[in-house]
Amino acid sequence: MAKKKIKVKVRRRKVKNTTVRPSSIIIPSTELQTIGVHKLQDYMTCDRLFFWKWVMNIIPRKVNIAFWFGSIAHYGFELFVKGKSIKFIEKALRKFSKEYLKPYEVDAIMRPEVEIQLEIVILMVKVYLKLYGKKQLKFIITHTEVRFAVKLQLSPVLFIGMIDSYGKKGVNFLMPEYKTASRIDNEYFKRLVFDKQLNGYAIGLRDIVGKFPQKSPYIVLRKPSIRVKQTETTEEFLERLNEDLHKRREWYFIHEMFTFGKKNVEAVFQDIEIKTRDLWLKFDCADDEELLNPMTWARNDRACFNYGVCPYFMLCKNCHNYPLYLKFYMMREIRYEEEKAELNHKLKYSTVRKGKLAMRKE
Ligand code: SF4
Repeated sequence: MAKKKIKVKVRRRKVKNTTVRPSSIIIPSTELQTIGVHKLQDYMTCDRLFFWKWVMNIIPRKVNIAFWFGSIAHYGFELFVKGKSIKFIEKALRKFSKEYLKPYEVDAIMRPEVEIQLEIVILMVKVYLKLYGKKQLKFIITHTEVRFAVKLQLSPVLFIGMIDSYGKKGVNFLMPEYKTASRIDNEYFKRLVFDKQLNGYAIGLRDIVGKFPQKSPYIVLRKPSIRVKQTETTEEFLERLNEDLHKRREWYFIHEMFTFGKKNVEAVFQDIEIKTRDLWLKFDCADDEELLNPMTWARNDRACFNYGVCPYFMLCKNCHNYPLYLKFYMMREIRYEEEKAELNHKLKYSTVRKGKLAMRKE
């Protein structure tokens, strides 16, 4: 089979976070030129999920609070490794949250939850930095926000991503990772051996510096399970949480020093190669009409209720009439130039008019 020739302009080390604001127009992707860990994980979770999110490029209009919470914490750590003060970080996080929420619908029922969660995540980041700060890292971070693009061997696809930060200790490279989690089971850290993000980014780092990182200081912020009591104000609750964060710091802030194994990293990269090739073959064999038909993408019923309800459940449940439900969705943010390059600009869907999906060819 003749392979498609794909030209993608790759730029490294320059981060241009170009934002395409979600609009009423949906631009589907009918090319597969790039793959990232989240994209691949979605494909491995459920083909149909991959279709909604990465072919149709749609996400729910309602904000995903867990994802928003994690993004704020992550941004807090990003500023911390850049050497910003706690005061600066707090201000920046409020601004970040405001910008993040702009394209989403936050209704009157969700608003109080969003407000309290924002105070919780800011408090957690502040307490973490006060308790641990830089002394936790024990090495100097030399680079932040470094993009990589690695050519895969089994398909003409680029494996792309952005390493938040890395630094050196002696001759070894270290790559810290920050996460938020609500549930941490006994196998949480054991699973990191096969983790696509951690090991995939080790491949990315090798592409940049010529060798794998030796370790990853892995820091997890566990989301509090305590809630605002009916008898207390928000301030009283935050005071109670603040005390608890100090008292049970080991429960809330978990540190693990992950050691990379060369064989494991290579095995994970082989998984990435194989899975990407499966996906690419699908894109290569199907025409646009097939690719844009949800029925081409098999459902995985086991994943529908993985963490609550899958955000695309409404579309899958009413698959034959799914355009009727597109008003509850919007186009996702297309973040990177490589990703934008794979959009097929010839096909555009206008959102539903009179119950029909209007497809325009340009
Ligand atoms: S609802 Fe189920 S079948 Fe549909 S995308 Fe989500 S996980 Fe897949």
